[in-house]
Amino acid sequence: MTGGASGIGLATVRRFVAEGANVVFCDLSPEQGREVAAALGDAGKLHHRRRAEGGPNDGVTIAATLGGRSIFVAADVTDQTSLEHVFATATEVFGGLDILVNNAGVGGGEGPIESTPRSLFDRTMAVNLLGPWLGIKLAFPLLRARGGGSIVNTASVSALVGMPGQGAYGASKAGVLQLTRVAAIEGASDFIRVNAVCPGGVLTPIIYDSPIFESGFDPALVDQGLAGAQPLPRACKPEDVADAILWLASDESSFVTGQSINVDGGLTIEFDSRY
Ligand code: NAD
Repeated sequence: MTGGASGIGLATVRRFVAEGANVVFCDLSPEQGREVAAALGDAGKLHHRRRAEGGPNDGVTIAATLGGRSIFVAADVTDQTSLEHVFATATEVFGGLDILVNNAGVGGGEGPIESTPRSLFDRTMAVNLLGPWLGIKLAFPLLRARGGGSIVNTASVSALVGMPGQGAYGASKAGVLQLTRVAAIEGASDFIRVNAVCPGGVLTPIIYDSPIFESGFDPALVDQGLAGAQPLPRACKPEDVADAILWLASDESSFVTGQSINVDGGLTIEFDSRY
């Protein structure tokens, strides 16, 4: 699981652990692993281990949390060496890999293309598209060795409709959907399934840390706004997305591949009554 220390990723880690899975989850910094462990109180145990070889985030790289069923590894998904360490941890500690959730993501509040800095485009593409591509590249041999497995990518409804101010974000997520289809075909003969989820608006740091809230942010108002944005009249919770990810990851969806599920309360299928 990438981007597992916050929002949808953290809800998914919790859901998987509740189902009895052993989980290795990564996020950018060791501090995030500590924060997760601290938030879990007594259930969160911290263990520190030095990485054998150096590299990004070297030093303390592993914090075991959630009573030992899940392990946090600091890693940047845009850095192949760092990501390799995450997969090596899964193999070393839990004996192999059955599921990969490519969830780490940035962006969404960048504003119009003409005023978006090139560096923001590059970073958005690197985290949101190169990250899952690297994840798939590294996971395939491990999943093949287990006789198959499941990969779930977190895309977005921004991949499906033209949302103003999301030129980089929307394009990166549309790329994730195509990557999902191609990888599904490439993995099929080895029983490696690849699917995606497309959440609508979910109140997580990716939204409330967005530059559009620089001048002030009222979570209740945003929550209300999100609740009114789609036919189902409540806001989407990280747990709603986690449930869809869990289903796609599980054997319950064993004949489903190359698909995406919109977890958006009907946002993308509503007929606009102005017409
Ligand atoms: P979030 O900010 O709570 O979580 C994203 C996590 O990814 C963070 O913990 C962040 O540190 C991590 N991350 C960022 N760059 C990384 C990198 N280079 N390497 C490793 N980790 C990195 O936001 P979230 O809403 O939980 O987002 C999870 C996924 O859901 C993202 O892919 C996002 O694009 C997608 N999504 C979110 C929404 C929404 O409304 N919240 C809607 C559609 C899709």
